[in-house]
Amino acid sequence: MTLFETLVSNTIKEFKNQFGVEPKWLASAPGRVNLIGEHTDYNDGFVFPMAIERQTVVAAAPLEKGPAKVFSVQTDEMVDIYVDGSSKPPITPADVKWSSYVQGVVACCFEAGLKVPPFCAVINSNVPLGGGLSSSASLEVSVATLLETIAGKKLGEKQKPLVCQKAEHSYAHMPCGIMDQFVSALGQKDQLLLLDCRTQEPKMIPLSDESVSVFIINSNRKHELTGSEYPERRAQCHEAAEVLGVPKLRDADLMMLESARDNLADKQYRRAKHVISEDIRTQAMAEALIAGDWERCGELMYQSHFSMCTDFEITTPELDLLVSLARLLGVEGGVYGSRMTGGGFGGCTVSLVKTDKIEKVSDFIRKNYHAVTGIEPTIFATRPAQGAVAL
Ligand code: ADP
Ligand code: MG
Repeated sequence: MTLFETLVSNTIKEFKNQFGVEPKWLASAPGRVNLIGEHTDYNDGFVFPMAIERQTVVAAAPLEKGPAKVFSVQTDEMVDIYVDGSSKPPITPADVKWSSYVQGVVACCFEAGLKVPPFCAVINSNVPLGGGLSSSASLEVSVATLLETIAGKKLGEKQKPLVCQKAEHSYAHMPCGIMDQFVSALGQKDQLLLLDCRTQEPKMIPLSDESVSVFIINSNRKHELTGSEYPERRAQCHEAAEVLGVPKLRDADLMMLESARDNLADKQYRRAKHVISEDIRTQAMAEALIAGDWERCGELMYQSHFSMCTDFEITTPELDLLVSLARLLGVEGGVYGSRMTGGGFGGCTVSLVKTDKIEKVSDFIRKNYHAVTGIEPTIFATRPAQGAVAL
């Protein structure tokens, strides 16, 4: 059995265990990894993610009367979810619970005209929660896909991820961009998704060369955050764009940035430098990928990491170490490139690795990362996966 088949079968088992009947509906949606283009989304720039072979699965059946009952295997908790449009978003970020994500999607789908009768459901996932692989988007998109199945009616192709994003904004108090939900909903097997966050136009770029694998390494170390880091970066980018006289940093280039340097605070300058250069790297990566120029792809990934480390300041010593170990192996040792991926301050690195060297690369990094940090990293290879489906 594949990992996915095992997940589906365990979810069905747990559903019968919780509710004593067979599920009638099943839906799934994947997590994602962003190959390059970090913190560019809310600056109206480019991101380059793919869906990964890790999913959230939801199994459900009708209930006679509401509220809906939803159980998560990961939190081992059953909650009430209101399907009649009567729910209210949590007032402060401190009031957000895991169930807020589910309630948010149900409420925002209701608002978008996707109304469902009461149901009972079990949620199960092998996307690590809070590991930077977007368990939140995979949860939201799997629930939205389930609601489409129950209602027998579909949201628009782009409407679905936008509704899920709205749920995360309003019910999880997380002002996220559109990347995670878009790729979880629209990802395709063996395809990367180059997304222009301004036009919200996705462009599929094939990654079908089987000699190259996408490697994800979870540093398994999350740093204590005050919660202000993400909004702070957003605000600094916004201020920098104002000084540069452009609507968003997407509209600025490096020449404009250099000529305005004296008017920018040091942090504003460095934040803008990361975003503007990252947009260039992301588009260059798409070109290099189409050309099959893996060494160029790798170089762009290292540059991206360096920029996030020195200018955007969102990496951690553990993520820097993982990238240094990859670099030490180099192309000879089987690694084309590596970088931190996701919002930062912990989580994962993404690397392009020669498929026939996967074992060696994995052993080397595991051993040395553990020797320095005492932490066991989680390592897996994945190919670009299919987005959300009703099963
Ligand atoms: P990431 O999306 O990188 O995994 P987030 O902090 O954005 O991290 O989202 C993680 C949160 O999403 C969890 O803390 C939990 O509230 C919710 N969540 C995601 N998957 C599940 C799940 N399978 N069961 C319950 N809650 C989940
Ligand atoms: Mg998330």
